[in-house]
Amino acid sequence: MFIPSIMEFCKALGKRNTYNIRKNTYSIFGVLWGIPVPIVTTGIALYYRDLSPTLPNIINEVVSNPLHFFFLMHPFIFGIVFGAMGTVREEKEEQKLRFEKSLIEINEKLKTTNKKLQELDELKDNFLSMVSHELWSPLTTIQGHITFLKDGKSGTLDVAQKEVLEIVEEQTVRLDNLIRGLVDISKIETGKFDVALESMDIKNVVYKTLDSMKQQADEKNILLKNEVPQNMSKVLADKERIVQVLVNLLGNAIKFTPKNKTVTLHAKEKDETVEFAVTDEGIGIPEEKIDKIFDKFYQVDSTSNREFGGCGLGLAIARSIIELHNGQIWVKSQPGAGSKFMFELRKSNAN
Ligand code: ADP
Repeated sequence: MFIPSIMEFCKALGKRNTYNIRKNTYSIFGVLWGIPVPIVTTGIALYYRDLSPTLPNIINEVVSNPLHFFFLMHPFIFGIVFGAMGTVREEKEEQKLRFEKSLIEINEKLKTTNKKLQELDELKDNFLSMVSHELWSPLTTIQGHITFLKDGKSGTLDVAQKEVLEIVEEQTVRLDNLIRGLVDISKIETGKFDVALESMDIKNVVYKTLDSMKQQADEKNILLKNEVPQNMSKVLADKERIVQVLVNLLGNAIKFTPKNKTVTLHAKEKDETVEFAVTDEGIGIPEEKIDKIFDKFYQVDSTSNREFGGCGLGLAIARSIIELHNGQIWVKSQPGAGSKFMFELRKSNAN
């Protein structure tokens, strides 16, 4: 702090403004401040010699003692010192003004960018709801026709035809899930996503969801373990939305776990909440990606030739659902060692 100030002062000594008595009021002040010095010192000298302050006496005194020349220089010295201080101050003021101006400019730019972002966001929301609607109508028609064919209403199907129809049906389910995800996300973005919380015995919901995931687990010979206790306090929840969260977490656990391993659903009671955990023995998630997996459309492996399907919406939706339940969702994971996704629901008697 001290050294830079000295440097600034020295630099100011080399600037014209320091010596410009008309522009730099500090230098005038310095000169005025210095004028009394030679007057007082000469006066004291005359007083001690018992001489009257006449012009010849003053000249004699000044000429006889070279120290008086030093005192005579004081108005100039003070003028220069104060002038340099004035220059430093003026430069600081200019710097401040420049800085304020650039801040105002940056602020304006930020406002414009923000406005553009908002517009883009609105455009994206409109686009999402338009796309989901436009995709859903034809899909519903396709699904209707599949059911029509499966029911044999257009004649009996042979084995090959049935197989083809099953593949088509599987793909429509994937598409249906994707569109549902898009609809949910566009509702979340526009603040239209809601939950209807009611006090419920969550155990049966959990057991049913586990049952519905069994076939998916069996296809990979994955053991789906149920470690949810029989006796649990009631929680405040929206049944359908919690099933949606469980299906996503269990579905991911099965998807990202190799064959012949285990996926477990646990639940434990805490003071005011019930904590659920889905544990797998799968590929795990690198530490630096853990924060991002709850962002919409984020996938750890987003390459076009990735091994696992999906569109990266499930966890973003799950997080919104749990947050609407006033709870939290989080994950612990290690690459190669599996993942543990946890979320909490509030007990109904705790509210
Ligand atoms: P999706 O599964 O459709 O890709 P999600 O939002 O459900 O989308 O998950 C986002 C990403 O988080 C996944 O693509 C995957 O990279 C990672 N992930 C989620 N669950 C697991 C898990 N159990 N094990 C490893 N990675 C996971």
